[in-house]
Amino acid sequence: MTIKNSFERLLFVFVTTLVSVTASLLLSWAASANGLDRATLIPAVGVPLMVAPTVSFWIATMMLRIQDLNRQLLFLARHDDMTALLTRRAFFEEFGTTGTSKAGSIIVADIDRFKAINDTYGHKIGDRVIREVANILKDKGKSDGISARFGGEEFVSFYPDECLQHAAIRAEAIRSAVENQSIQVSGKELGITLSIGVDFFDGTRPLDEVLHAADQALYEAKKTGRNKVVSNSA
Ligand code: GH3
Ligand code: MG
Ligand code: MG
Repeated sequence: MTIKNSFERLLFVFVTTLVSVTASLLLSWAASANGLDRATLIPAVGVPLMVAPTVSFWIATMMLRIQDLNRQLLFLARHDDMTALLTRRAFFEEFGTTGTSKAGSIIVADIDRFKAINDTYGHKIGDRVIREVANILKDKGKSDGISARFGGEEFVSFYPDECLQHAAIRAEAIRSAVENQSIQVSGKELGITLSIGVDFFDGTRPLDEVLHAADQALYEAKKTGRNKVVSNSA
């Protein structure tokens, strides 16, 4: 049995109390030679009425708390703690449920010259940059995409039912949003750019193969100047 909300907790308290009072009355009646007189009726009703609501409320509260902690645990296991995007493993799992039968587009994105940002401004600022880029990815794929941090400053998103052309437009919007993002460090504006590779998943090719192809497109974007989107042709 699970208790999902405050209303169900109240219901649980009510039902438990009712059952306790009824059971107590039945037991008292069965045990008493004279039936239920005033002397047996008061403790038969009074004792469960005092004990059952308190105990059942406590049990229900513990059940709610355990479920809440389980939810938090599941979220932490499936999400990157720096960005709250999916982890690589969770992305593959999620892809298994939403993606395998669906066609869609995959984008692989990598922050440009990120090592230099770390070296110049320090890892804390580097982490902030990673979070800013992650927020843009979340924002641009809010309702229909799944996004993950695959490691370091590399991100992967899958947009079910999105053709290559639309994914390339979306990728360009992401790239442009990152370029126009304003990150202030010690009063100075820090410019960041993103390179993106895009490929199409038609539901038949293995995901690894599509990821590899998107990676190749990303490599092409890096090789030919960075801060750009390269899309594999359909
Ligand atoms: P490119 O444009 O070719 O992608 O160059 P890059 O400098 O971005 O790539 P490179 O792979 O040389 O450097 C990535 C750096 O990211 C190296 C690593 O120390 C740093 N890094 C990896 N994970 C984290 C992290 O969680 N936080 C921070 N601040 N840095 C990280
Ligand atoms: Mg990089
Ligand atoms: Mg990288």
